[in-house]
Amino acid sequence: MEIKKIEGKETSLGPISNTFIIISNGKFCVVDPSHSLVQIREVLGDFLLPNQDRTTGNELILDKVIVTHCHFDHVEKIQDFIESDIPIVLSRKCYQNLQSSSINYSCMLNDKPLEIIIPKNLAEFPQDNKIILCDEIWEVIDTPGHTNCSISIYKDQNLFVGDVMFAGNSFGRYDLPTGDRRELVNTLEKLENLPSSTMVHPGHGEDFKLAEWRK
Ligand SMILES: [Zn+2]
Ligand SMILES: [Zn+2]
Repeated sequence: MEIKKIEGKETSLGPISNTFIIISNGKFCVVDPSHSLVQIREVLGDFLLPNQDRTTGNELILDKVIVTHCHFDHVEKIQDFIESDIPIVLSRKCYQNLQSSSINYSCMLNDKPLEIIIPKNLAEFPQDNKIILCDEIWEVIDTPGHTNCSISIYKDQNLFVGDVMFAGNSFGRYDLPTGDRRELVNTLEKLENLPSSTMVHPGHGEDFKLAEWRK
């Protein structure tokens, strides 16, 4: 498995989250679609959409998108993926939350609140806390607290957490809509039980080893 990162940044309209690209078995998945297909091509070179035939045999195929939670800064470019018919993995609560501009917090950009409706045929909900990404089984961990819909995904000591925890012993806000401090504490305790050599890939800022993080 190879992991690439497109750094998020602060803009005048608010933050943009990190986007991660997980590459395996000739396919790739995108964690948090805050960057466009064009921006992903700048990092990966040419790739194919699921309905396109391989020509050279070497191109990667875009398999799925994963949304860690409903906040707008993590899904800014999701329409790009919807229009390309890419399956979108998310929690059932996230599916609902995305439809509300107050809960997805895009209402803070009063010039362009987003109400995101994912077509039913593209939404993929984890079953038994498992999901298949690039033909491999990943564990899905419910990690509420920052929002009630937050999920983290884990495989081979790689953990993608969205806004649950950050480098420098920091953690996500719990004062936004659907946030809950007690739930966030429980979530952080749960994640701390993973192997200490786990690499954590957060929605903002630097990646870090779980061993370096102490709340
Ligand atoms: Zn964020
Ligand atoms: Zn967030």
